[in-house]
Amino acid sequence: MKTAKDNKIALVTGGGSGIGLAIAQKFVHEGIFTIIIGRDEKKLQHAKEKLGELCEFISCDLTDLKAIPVMVKKIVDQYGKIDVLVNNAGINMKKEFLDVTDEDFQKILQTNVSAVFSLSREVVKFMVEKNVGSIINISSMASQYGIPKVIAYTASKSAIEGMTKAMAVELSPKGIRINCIAPGFIATDMSAAALNNDPERKQKVMSRTPMGALGKPADIGDAALFLASEGSKYITGVVLPVDGGNSVGF
Ligand code: NDP
Repeated sequence: MKTAKDNKIALVTGGGSGIGLAIAQKFVHEGIFTIIIGRDEKKLQHAKEKLGELCEFISCDLTDLKAIPVMVKKIVDQYGKIDVLVNNAGINMKKEFLDVTDEDFQKILQTNVSAVFSLSREVVKFMVEKNVGSIINISSMASQYGIPKVIAYTASKSAIEGMTKAMAVELSPKGIRINCIAPGFIATDMSAAALNNDPERKQKVMSRTPMGALGKPADIGDAALFLASEGSKYITGVVLPVDGGNSVGF
């Protein structure tokens, strides 16, 4: 069996880009052996080159629920444990409410909720054996207040926050902590490009953010590192906004 020696082992879904990649970078920098999961081999390869020795990648479509238990067992067989799971992979879709089809709605829920549930359950099966673990779910400030044209996304992120609290209470006696990070506007490649092409929207976003700037993926990485660490050992079931004050008011 390949061992990761004394390192913690973390899984980061969607770790090939954006926020997930920044989380993986923070973990690796801290000496956490990080396994990133995604579908796009090119992205994953790029992340592996960037992160080096302390990183591995696994290609998996998380909407394939049958693949999840097989993947988790393989990881545990190879590395012996999973200390940290970051459920970061997520998709969004911007559509007027009346244009959202049942298929659209299901697609978002499959990736953003069902996959999070299934992966968490499979990982928890092994965490309970060790009586320790930290799960970090990435929701969104969309769950704090209504944003038009993202109905399915908002529903999915609110579901994750509810799931976080219920799991935190149930799994606390087993030594497993579950927390959520709710990012505000974070300048990933995709979101920054969208805002730069729409100066009016960019202005609106800035005026709604007390700190007056977009967040950086590394800001979410720092919060995830804290929630994965011993420093947060008495924290479970929280939804931590990392949003430049956006959820507080403007
Ligand atoms: P990205 O699109 O860069 O990252 C999403 C990642 O999810 C991709 O790497 C993608 O990998 C992975 N992914 C999507 N579907 C699947 C799937 N079926 N199976 C496996 N992996 C999948 O977006 P961000 O970094 O911006 O977003 C990361 C998280 O942060 C999301 O949950 C998002 O909702 C949340 N968030 C982002 C905000 C922002 O402003 N950027 C604000 C609030 C929340 P691949 O292509 O390889 O499948």
